[in-house]
Amino acid sequence: MNAPAQPDLSHLWMPFTANRQFKAQPRLLAGAKGMYYTSVDGRQILDGTAGLWCVNAGHCRDEITQAVSRQIAHLDYAPGFQLGHPDAFDAAAAVAGVMPQGLDRIFFTNSGSESVDTALKIALAYHRARGEGQRTRLIGRERGYHGVGFGGISVGGISPNRKAFSGALLPAVDHLPHTHSLEHNAHTRGQPEWGAHLADELERLVALHDASTIAAVIVEPLAGSTGVLVPPKGYLEKLREITRRHGILLIFDEVITGFGRLGAATASEYFGVTPDLMTLAKGVSNAAVPAGAVAVSREVYDGVVGATQAGIEFFHGYTYSGHPLAAAAILATLDIYRRDGLFARAASLAPALEAAAHSLEKAPHVIDVRNLGLVAGIELRPRDGAPGARAAEVFQKCFDRGVLVRYTGDILAVSPPLIINEDQIGQLFDTIGQVLKEVQ
Ligand code: PLP
Repeated sequence: MNAPAQPDLSHLWMPFTANRQFKAQPRLLAGAKGMYYTSVDGRQILDGTAGLWCVNAGHCRDEITQAVSRQIAHLDYAPGFQLGHPDAFDAAAAVAGVMPQGLDRIFFTNSGSESVDTALKIALAYHRARGEGQRTRLIGRERGYHGVGFGGISVGGISPNRKAFSGALLPAVDHLPHTHSLEHNAHTRGQPEWGAHLADELERLVALHDASTIAAVIVEPLAGSTGVLVPPKGYLEKLREITRRHGILLIFDEVITGFGRLGAATASEYFGVTPDLMTLAKGVSNAAVPAGAVAVSREVYDGVVGATQAGIEFFHGYTYSGHPLAAAAILATLDIYRRDGLFARAASLAPALEAAAHSLEKAPHVIDVRNLGLVAGIELRPRDGAPGARAAEVFQKCFDRGVLVRYTGDILAVSPPLIINEDQIGQLFDTIGQVLKEVQ
């Protein structure tokens, strides 16, 4: 078979990509099924990252394809402002059905970034509706990733994502310290013992700013994009206790952890800590159609919606909120998760992933291995004068050998679809292990 002609790469400005480097040595995917991508040169590539942490049920699931195909032929679009369509309401009920108890009011968006900015706006609207409009301060966390909207990068804590825009970030934002410590927690399996006290920093911020100025705290329960930071035991519980005591809303950004990543429907369920709002995207539609959502407690929903006598209660929404194709994809996806028991499957595979990941503790360059559920992070010692170069090379060599991993800085991240099997887990980490022996 002749190799397909390569497209003209010059026009597309690729997101979060070294454009010149990529275009000099492109990696192009042509198809996907189940656990595998097919590259344009016809190679099978084991997907160790569920795309971008989003294809939790595996690729090109027939039920989702059929549901979306039926929908596009039947109802291509329906305005979500002042009109509705039944599937959007059904999809909201289905999402509510897998949320922790009480978080059953659902606002649809199209992405994680939109979910985050929506949640921050809901928090501000809630306090204002209660006569506490001075609560405008938002607290994020160092190394947090909350997408790329102005709200998200303001509460986010990844410096390169903020630097170019630093003069235009939201005012009245502060950050908790991150929880990563190689000194105390290197090579921890599951949740680290050390670090719960870092949540007490919130008390310091409350003392500094006064609780009456703080609207919300937003954290990823397990921080993914920054390189897999697992919350220390007791940390999230403390954040919950402190926020509740001071009337501050707690937002869990579960764009990555929602829909089974940790072996439960949500990280909130996994840790037994329920926030006031939860941001979702990615796995909600198995990434087949762009979709996101904010799950909101009844108290917050009633607080905002009940405060207006007549007319629009919340001046916010997207042309594509609850889009018919997204709604169809969400309904079909949640059906698969339930029917195939994929969250429980993730839980049952977590020990195998943990063992395989930690078998690399003594591999060359490895300074930390950490894991929870179906996520693992492998931190490498950076090359002198070239941070990130070693992990980038590992990523490329794994790709050349038919295994997709992710890297951020010098941290490799593994987060496969929940349909992975034990042999494939073995292949994933064996390949990383072999490549680590080859790179300098
Ligand atoms: N929040 C978290 C925790 C994420 O991991 C991401 C994406 O990785 C986002 C928000 C942004 O999502 P999106 O890229 O769909 O805007």
